[in-house]
Amino acid sequence: MDNESGVTRDRHYGYAEWNGKQFTVIDTGGYVEGSEDIFEGEIRKQVKEALGEANVILFMVDCHTGLHGLDQDFANVVRELKKPVLIVANKADNTEKMYMANEFYQLGISDQIFPVASVNGSGTGDLLDEVVNHFEDEPEDEEENTVPRIAIVGRPNVGKSSFLNALLGKDRSIVTNIAGTTRDALDTRYNLFEKDFILTDTAGIRKKAKVKEDIEFYSVLRAIQALQNSDVCIVVLDAQNGLEAQDLNIINLAHKYRKGCVIMVNKWDLWQKDTNSAAEYQKHIAEKLGPLSYIPVVFTSVMNKQRIFKTIELALQVAENIKLKIPTSQLNLKIGKEIENYPPPSVRGKHIKIKYITQLSTKAPTFAFFCNHPKDIREAYERFLLNKVREHFGFEGVPVKLVFKQK
Ligand code: GDP
Repeated sequence: MDNESGVTRDRHYGYAEWNGKQFTVIDTGGYVEGSEDIFEGEIRKQVKEALGEANVILFMVDCHTGLHGLDQDFANVVRELKKPVLIVANKADNTEKMYMANEFYQLGISDQIFPVASVNGSGTGDLLDEVVNHFEDEPEDEEENTVPRIAIVGRPNVGKSSFLNALLGKDRSIVTNIAGTTRDALDTRYNLFEKDFILTDTAGIRKKAKVKEDIEFYSVLRAIQALQNSDVCIVVLDAQNGLEAQDLNIINLAHKYRKGCVIMVNKWDLWQKDTNSAAEYQKHIAEKLGPLSYIPVVFTSVMNKQRIFKTIELALQVAENIKLKIPTSQLNLKIGKEIENYPPPSVRGKHIKIKYITQLSTKAPTFAFFCNHPKDIREAYERFLLNKVREHFGFEGVPVKLVFKQK
């Protein structure tokens, strides 16, 4: 089972947008029923938990093989959850197969079957329309001054628990009697530097070689959940491993969800240092981050209690930065001057003029540039403007978005 599902194991989740609604799709991978292994039981629990978090469950079945015993087993699990279920009948690549999809009504979990063929994407539009129907509209900007929420995420063993314990000043790890189990993400409210904030801890998912991919999956799942509920996330790395693919995935997701971010390079005490090494290390990270290199990096040793409070201070600063509102007059004065010095290049003989700039009232900072030919602003010029906005107004650690509108 594990080997088989291994093919999809490298990609367990993704960010999606349909009809203007953003959501995360989580693939629970192989669902194993009836295994004796105690750890499998634990994993099963996790799959259920993943389903528990979902707004909509897509129940994938295979038109090619038809109704399968495991489908029934899984249907029993899903039925208990009392959530909206859409049956996705895959491999419905001809009318006969589409007709066969009807047998899945027998599962008794949904009266909505969507035949799709993932090879060519047919049927997916209807499916997505229905999926987003189940999402509530985003509440308009809620109360501004709520307590900032900081999520601590990162791969197993990078030092997340140690970090929290150091902040808390006592050992708070929860140990269950099964090696390699997880515990829930914990929210702790703090008051430090005369500021209130909430830390969400995603630690506690332990390595167990046998199901390494699963552990990876659940830690990512946890991280996504924590991320969505936070304002800023601290992505913790082990200095010796550097920024890995999984970290980059999380950072990209944070960017897409428009959350603040701080990278914490921990176990710095174990790094061979010469005078330049922090700067060099930072440069290396910036190269990997590319356009996301607005994210600040802090080098810590939780073991030596080095810069752990600085990290929190930085995250709180980022939380403040997200809320920054730049007065229109300041924007037009400062960025206007930059545009004057370096105007957008003409396109097909058309002169492009940016008339004015204003910050929109979105939660994360978005700046609207009103111009005569918004579609002709090139990516390189957008990057230039973005850099100038950051240069003049800060926004360290914050995803800033520019939009170009007709005027
Ligand atoms: P988590 O899985 O991310 O929560 O990681 P843990 O907090 O459990 O830490 C994993 C291991 O790394 C433990 O043995 C820690 O003692 C060790 N560790 C954590 N921070 C540091 C550090 O700054 N320096 C060194 N040398 N070891 C650390």
